[in-house]
Amino acid sequence: MNPLDTLIVKFAATCNLACTYCYEYAAGDESWRTKPKGILLETAERIGERIREFGESVGKDRMTVVAHGGEPLLLGAARLDAVLSAISNRASPIGVKFSLQTNGTLLTPSICAVLAQHQVTVGVSLDGSAIHNRRRIDHRGLLSYDQVLAGIETLRSTPGALFGGLLCVIDLEHDPEEIVDALCSLRPPMVDLLQPFLTHDAAGNTREATANRFGQWMCRAMDRWIERPEYAKVRIRVLDDALRASLTRRPETDWFGPRRISYMVIETDGTYDLLDQLKAIGAESAAMRQFGRTIRDCSLQDAARFAEQLLSERGGDKLPHACNGCRWADVCAGGHLPSRHSAARGFDNPSTYCEGILALLDHSQDRLTKHTQRLALTDTHTKA
Ligand code: SF4
Repeated sequence: MNPLDTLIVKFAATCNLACTYCYEYAAGDESWRTKPKGILLETAERIGERIREFGESVGKDRMTVVAHGGEPLLLGAARLDAVLSAISNRASPIGVKFSLQTNGTLLTPSICAVLAQHQVTVGVSLDGSAIHNRRRIDHRGLLSYDQVLAGIETLRSTPGALFGGLLCVIDLEHDPEEIVDALCSLRPPMVDLLQPFLTHDAAGNTREATANRFGQWMCRAMDRWIERPEYAKVRIRVLDDALRASLTRRPETDWFGPRRISYMVIETDGTYDLLDQLKAIGAESAAMRQFGRTIRDCSLQDAARFAEQLLSERGGDKLPHACNGCRWADVCAGGHLPSRHSAARGFDNPSTYCEGILALLDHSQDRLTKHTQRLALTDTHTKA
């Protein structure tokens, strides 16, 4: 079965916030400037037609479309409705499951009503409490926290709306327990923690110290999450993945694992892109991400094939040489792609967070082993 099941579609090329760490606008890639600010209806229709063509040819009856940006809600309620309708109508009879990643500041009642109508699962970017969220500012430098909380409240009070969870970019300057508390107290069904983008060239000679600090941060975050029973209903995806993968050795998130083309990115002008997070590398990443095809001239099946070729040519699908012999190589596989990059060796480097990933996976295995031993002891005690 073809693994491609998700399209990340840029609904907007601009954003009403100016977060200081943004890979889209603050890392040196300026390609967004030449793209349409908002996706055109004809591009949305073509995406729907490509989904139908793909689904029928590979035997998939459903695909996921993630509305992304920039800030996708800059489209406004009416145009958002038209774009979502265009994709799902043209894709029919192949079903489209929509989700949307937003900064949360534009979740008005009319927009939430459109999202509910199309059954869009909404993820909101938030880095913790007001103090943790200090890097998520608008173009005047004003904090966005209060607006985001109001947006989440509007979403939650809209009948039929689906709150999918929170996306938090890790800030090692802040206490992990405080961040876990701040996020879980908002009762999201899921929390995604995002690794701060750090290439080898950016890390320089502080890399190892940063990786160790990162590992300690992640282990403390895991302990807080596990040890608070009231957080049991919140899935912190990467921690959940680390725990499971330390047992099954089959990870599911972008943080770990061999690269498969299970999703493609489509820009507002219909251009295909391999992985837009590679923009964190800077302007030179265009050659690693783009293969010169658009939704107009290339099917999804062919685009996935071109993307696989590009990934393979750049060595992004191979285990970095230095990872040979690592005890977690089958799980980690070198780590998240942007964190493997250096100008000198391309993607043939272990993750800049290597020591931290080792610590997290060891800690996950340790926690599970102790938990299993405790269960076994309880069992023996009960039988005795
Ligand atoms: S050496 Fe480090 S980056 Fe490489 S697989 Fe092992 S943990 Fe991952």
